Order: sequence, then C-alpha cells, then structure tokens
Amino acid sequence: MGVPAVQRRDELKTVWEQASACTRCPQLAATRQSVVFGSGHADADLMFVGEAPGAREDEQGVPFVGQAGRLLDQLLGEIGLERGDVFVVNTLKCRPPGNRDPLPQEIDNCQDYLFRQLELIEPKVICSLGNFATKLLRGDPATGITRLHGREEVRTIGPRTLRLYPIFHPAAALYTPSMLETLRADFSRLPDLLALEAPPQPEPEEAEPVVPEPEAVVAAPEARDEPPDDSQLGLF
Ligand code: URA
Repeated sequence: MGVPAVQRRDELKTVWEQASACTRCPQLAATRQSVVFGSGHADADLMFVGEAPGAREDEQGVPFVGQAGRLLDQLLGEIGLERGDVFVVNTLKCRPPGNRDPLPQEIDNCQDYLFRQLELIEPKVICSLGNFATKLLRGDPATGITRLHGREEVRTIGPRTLRLYPIFHPAAALYTPSMLETLRADFSRLPDLLALEAPPQPEPEEAEPVVPEPEAVVAAPEARDEPPDDSQLGLF
C-alpha cells in the first residue's frame, strides 16, 4: 500500500515551504520575486516539467502563466484536460535573470525539489517540455529533444517507475507553425498514454536510492518577506 494521498499532499506542502526559503543559488535568490514551486492537482496522473520561470511566472509565483502557458492551456484543452487536472512544475524554481539558460550548478541545486515532487505526486506520466527537463529526467545530457520527442519510455526515477514522455517546449512552437503541429501531434498521444496501466513499481529493495529530502535551506527569518501564499499551489 502506498502513502495516502492526504499525507503526500501534506509532505508536498512541507517541500514547498522549504523551497520557498531556498538560497542554494545565491544569484537567483537575490534576484527573484518569488519561488515558483508548481501548481495543479497534488494527486495528478500527468505532470509537466518545464524549464524555468519567466518574468510573468516570477511576478505571480505560478508556472506557465505567460504566452507559453497560454499555448500549454490550449493544447491541454484540445485533449480534454485543464490545468486543474495536471500538475505543472519547472526544472528550476527561480527565474534566471534575463531568462538566460539554467546553469548546470543551478539545475543540480534545484533537482531535489523536483524529485521530491515526483515522489509525492506519483504521476503515471511525466511530460518533459524541452531539453533541460528531458536531459535531467533521463540522466543523459547528450541526447536532445529533437531526437526524443513523442516517444515514451518507462523509467525509474527515484523510487517511482513511470512513463516519461519528452515533447518540445511550447515556447519553441510560439512562432513556428511546423513546430506547433509537431507539438500538437505529440500532445494528442497523451490520452492513450494516460489510459495505459501504470507500470509496476519496483520492490522497495530494488528501487533506486530514495531522493533525499532537501535539507531545510531556510533563509534567515528577516530575509523572508512574508509567508508563501499557498493559493499558488492551485487545487489542493
Ligand atoms: N517556460 C517555462 O519553462 N516555464 C514557465 O513557467 C514559463 C515558461
């Protein structure tokens, strides 16, 4: 028997509180307006993993609320889903200044939060959006999204076995009609993937080592402006 959903949700809130005070990346901690932990259904079968918050997301504390987010919503709608049915996160929880690419050290610093999210939400399918999420979740920095998109694979990530489904990042399709058609075609396979039975979970002793809980990297109390706003977590 797995961990009850209500307990997983409470633990997710604890991870969110830890992330909200994180100072592991000094530059990002100094320049961010918010830590964009993720939002959606805490017990979703489908989870999306993007790259990093942009300016809008940083302002609002919610992932994918800008142009790429509107396209994500549209593509979700085309397969009969909405934000409240899924959980959306990013590889980095803080905005890189000027929307520069995430640095390897930043991805490394932030990955415990992502792996804890996967462990606690227990999705059947993880859809990685673009290169950064795909490379991290596959543990293979050499193989890019152009080769991998639209082909699911069963992967054990931390203690969970799930279907990983890499697709292009919606931002890549904003101004390129052919890319939008590719993204739409890849999206259209999601309902079938979700309808498949979840892959069997590894026996606890066979599982890869459980991703450690992020150490509480808590900013000094005076550095914390206000308690994080839990409405940003969406549908709990
Ligand atoms: N792009 C991302 O990868 N994430 C967001 O939250 C917004 C744009």
